[in-house]
Amino acid sequence: MTATDIAIVGVGKIARDQHIPSIGRSEAFNLAATVSSHGGVTGVENHATLEGLLDARPDIPAVALCMPPQNRFAAAKAALSAGRHVLLEKPPGATVAEVHALKVLAERRGITLFATWHSRFAAGVEPARQWLADKTLRRVRVTWKEDVRRWHPGQEWIWQPGGLGVFDPGINALSIVTAILPFPVHMTTAELKFPQNREAPIAAALAMTGNGNVAVEAEFDWRHTGAQTWTIEVDTTEGRLVLADGGATLAVADEPPSKAPDREYDAIYGRFAELLTDRQIDVDPTPLVHVADAFMLGKRIIVEPFFD
Ligand code: NAP
Repeated sequence: MTATDIAIVGVGKIARDQHIPSIGRSEAFNLAATVSSHGGVTGVENHATLEGLLDARPDIPAVALCMPPQNRFAAAKAALSAGRHVLLEKPPGATVAEVHALKVLAERRGITLFATWHSRFAAGVEPARQWLADKTLRRVRVTWKEDVRRWHPGQEWIWQPGGLGVFDPGINALSIVTAILPFPVHMTTAELKFPQNREAPIAAALAMTGNGNVAVEAEFDWRHTGAQTWTIEVDTTEGRLVLADGGATLAVADEPPSKAPDREYDAIYGRFAELLTDRQIDVDPTPLVHVADAFMLGKRIIVEPFFD
């Protein structure tokens, strides 16, 4: 197999922790260049701007956009317009309409656009979807509680408009819920807590419903300093399913939990390679739609200021 050259745009935490190692392990991709204002990766050609990369390297057919969501649309539009296949980190945009526009552009150009949801590739997610497919659901409870100082130190963009605040991790929960439930859900009420000095929420309580009257409740909190919790519990008439550790650990009914090693980003690049073979598009904006609905419906409560 000839590896496809790919460029990473935005060499921050997720690019270093996941994208670069996964591309390094992949037979399908070769990291040919980066776009980074801070110098990129040792030994890899770097460009200071995306425009510079697109002009200088027409031979690189694919880009992975790993910058914050506020800049993603302009970069994706430029790359797609230049005929490059595009992988989008989550969330796929700062607004829902941006994502629709990118999908239309990719369709018109006949090139691949992949809006990734890394949590959907966690080991327990697909088995959970399969187990729930024929069950009668009673209630769903999502608990996503983590310490923002531990996971996002100094990241200003997450607190700015479009940065999503606590929905930056919370959207991962929503990406799993919308993948595993056998019916669509929609938001009925939301409560968003905004620190007095910030423009994005630090906590959120969501109530959704689906399939008549199945309640889906979610609690996201970034002020949590105890055991970090990323859990989805689904009560069914045949017992409880628990997805813990962000989807990595699955326990069904009375069986012992099973946990598999993290392969989320290896699987993302495997899927991107598949999509490239016949220029397919894989874009599901549903998790972002729920976040947008939470912002539309949400009651806003001002809480104490947050300082890093
Ligand atoms: P980050 O560490 O703050 O890095 C983002 C990089 O994007 C920066 O290093 C910078 O790259 C570039 N950039 C371009 N415009 C920027 C701007 N206005 N402000 C800050 N950086 C800018 O962010 P991250 O944690 O990697 O997150 C990036 C995206 O990945 C987000 O959408 C996030 O939701 C997603 N994600 C993050 C994680 C995680 O664990 N952190 C996990 C999954 C997904 P250069 O310095 O190279 O120019």
